[in-house]
Amino acid sequence: MRNTPILSTLGALLLTACQPMDLSPEEVYQNSIVALELTSSTDIELPLGSTLDLTDLLTITYKENQTPASLPTRAIRVVANQNALASSVFSATTAGTYTLQVKVGDKVSNTISVNVLPYALVRIPVVFHTVNSTLSAAQINRLVNNLTDAFRNRWNPYRGAKDAHAVDNFVEFYAAPTDPSQRTLAVAGLDAIKATRQTFTTEQAVEEAWNAYWNPKNFLNIWVFNIARAESVSGFAYITPVTRSLPGSRLVSAARTSPDLPYGIFFNQSEVNSTVSSTLAHEAGHVLGLHHVFDGNGDESNGCSRVDPDYCTDTPFYDRKGYVDNYRNLRQRRQACNGVSYESNNIMDYYLSYENSFTRQQRERIRHTLTYGLWVPQGTNSRARQEAGEGFVKKPDDYRYVPPEICALESH
Ligand SMILES: [Zn+2]
Repeated sequence: MRNTPILSTLGALLLTACQPMDLSPEEVYQNSIVALELTSSTDIELPLGSTLDLTDLLTITYKENQTPASLPTRAIRVVANQNALASSVFSATTAGTYTLQVKVGDKVSNTISVNVLPYALVRIPVVFHTVNSTLSAAQINRLVNNLTDAFRNRWNPYRGAKDAHAVDNFVEFYAAPTDPSQRTLAVAGLDAIKATRQTFTTEQAVEEAWNAYWNPKNFLNIWVFNIARAESVSGFAYITPVTRSLPGSRLVSAARTSPDLPYGIFFNQSEVNSTVSSTLAHEAGHVLGLHHVFDGNGDESNGCSRVDPDYCTDTPFYDRKGYVDNYRNLRQRRQACNGVSYESNNIMDYYLSYENSFTRQQRERIRHTLTYGLWVPQGTNSRARQEAGEGFVKKPDDYRYVPPEICALESH
């Protein structure tokens, strides 16, 4: 809460001294208030189960010389869709759009609009399987916090303008404190492993991952490999299959009991110390159901396809092949297949991009995948996220390699 006039001790003393004893807190303060104003730069979105304290958005203007020493929070009440609540805190318990005001006695503020989303904040435990290498707790925390920032619409490595459709996905990541056997990890989120091979092709890395694969229903697995330079990849991932139809995602039966592929992120060790890399966020986007915004994968750069390659109409798509031929001049500038010129800011684009936005339709895919994804810590399955008891995944006897979604290194 912000009080505009400077505190007047004398005013506060007079106010306290002159009030009859039987007035409610609201009545005590209403007469000293000129205006209540709620300020928010945009319409507010809240995930289910969250709360919003309206005093954080409230500016109170008092009559001259009548600023109370402090307005008790219990004197401030939220009005939600014209129903007065018992406190200054709004609880997001039912999805829908709400108009909110605050009142103190007979003084009422302006209204703001709040949208309660039909899903809750999801927090995903992460484990880094570092192959022939390690990570410090500080490195893990930075990587995990950057990942959270990207999904909570706070990531902006090159300080570019955000997309007009950029949203908060209400997905967070944290370093897993325990392994699948419930043993406390020496370094949260770290599983340092050894392999005989030193550098890996994409296919060799996928093969090796089966030796350190924790139940993907309980963990986001991130394998850190020294990937052969000739592969020219910063990372890659598999899109999680779903049990309820989503265009562009593989539909599978919920009866499957073991994963057919290592669902998780493959991260090139060369990217680990970059403070501007969006690779983990990009790969987590794949894991959570997102495609590239353009038509292509890895070294293939296609032209303008007939259908929207990422199934999201609020992300423009473009001729990647044409762009790559002239990317040093065009930089973040793109020509969409519909003719519109724009600056690339989407995390699911390749270089050169501001890499700072996921859009509203991308969020719908992410939330669908969290709810119906078979091998991902699920939004509807909070118990699975807490109890990592189901152990380590074995490679199935009928395993066959399938090429993943590739994230190309710059200027390959
Ligand atoms: Zn990619």
